[in-house]
Amino acid sequence: MELNLSNKTAVITGGTVGIGLAIAEALAAEGCNLFLIGRDGSRGEAEARRIAGQFGVKASAIAADVATAAGCEAVIAAAGDIDILINNAGTGSNETIAEAEDAKWQYYWDLHVMAAVRLARGLVPGMKRRGGGAIVHNASICAVQPLWYEPIYNTTKAALMMFSKTLANEVVGDNIRVNTVNPGLVLTPDWIKTAKQIAGEDGYEAHLQAVADEAGGMKRFAAPEEVARFVAFLCSDMASYSTGSTYFVDGGWLKTV
Ligand code: NDP
Repeated sequence: MELNLSNKTAVITGGTVGIGLAIAEALAAEGCNLFLIGRDGSRGEAEARRIAGQFGVKASAIAADVATAAGCEAVIAAAGDIDILINNAGTGSNETIAEAEDAKWQYYWDLHVMAAVRLARGLVPGMKRRGGGAIVHNASICAVQPLWYEPIYNTTKAALMMFSKTLANEVVGDNIRVNTVNPGLVLTPDWIKTAKQIAGEDGYEAHLQAVADEAGGMKRFAAPEEVARFVAFLCSDMASYSTGSTYFVDGGWLKTV
């Protein structure tokens, strides 16, 4: 299948590790040039160098905090006109509604929603100049099936999904497609680190399996590549009639239709 991503340029927030890095590799394997965004510039630069060498594409890092307006401005200024935007930066939370303070709600709103708003405002004009583009939002199954311990995550990811749908309507006439992917359990270094903290070096694999068993469906974590391949397809011309939709990549965890 020819994805026709060669010589396109993509901005990937959170493209320096985990799912975002796997998306970067999937796009680079198709010849797409990359800007990898993360706060830790040295990690981004190391991965950009590695990917450029491995896949023969142009790849560079932009050190920026996309939870801030200034960070988004820095990304927009450094990237210039691009074809593909992957809003992937994000992180889980842990709180109760009774106890979480406004500042925590505000931080996750800025990270999960305002980053996507600000980057769309800054990067869509360049996509229009190029004659079109693709935007993918990485939300979560939690956007529609909440986990009890992370109300702020659930709520802000649901808002991101609605933002994605609304943006899709606004730019549909500009040949820009906008979609959301909702992953389930994806085995990233962060999951492994947390599992080791909870269950120790000997018990972490059993702990992760218990998490997967509780989710049901395939009862396993996805590899980041299993989400990344889907995202690369959505960015490609092969998905030319797909816009304004949300796609689940969750191994059957979602309990509703
Ligand atoms: P990781 O924690 O492995 O990586 C997060 C990435 O985002 C890093 O590159 C990090 O770089 C970057 N990042 C975090 N905060 C910011 C910020 N303020 N500004 C710029 N970059 C930032 O995450 P995952 O790969 O696990 O998750 C990626 C996305 O997928 C998230 O949105 C998450 O909610 C979603 N998701 C993950 C699932 C999972 O099971 N892993 C399941 C469902 C959804 P740095 O720290 O250097 O800034």
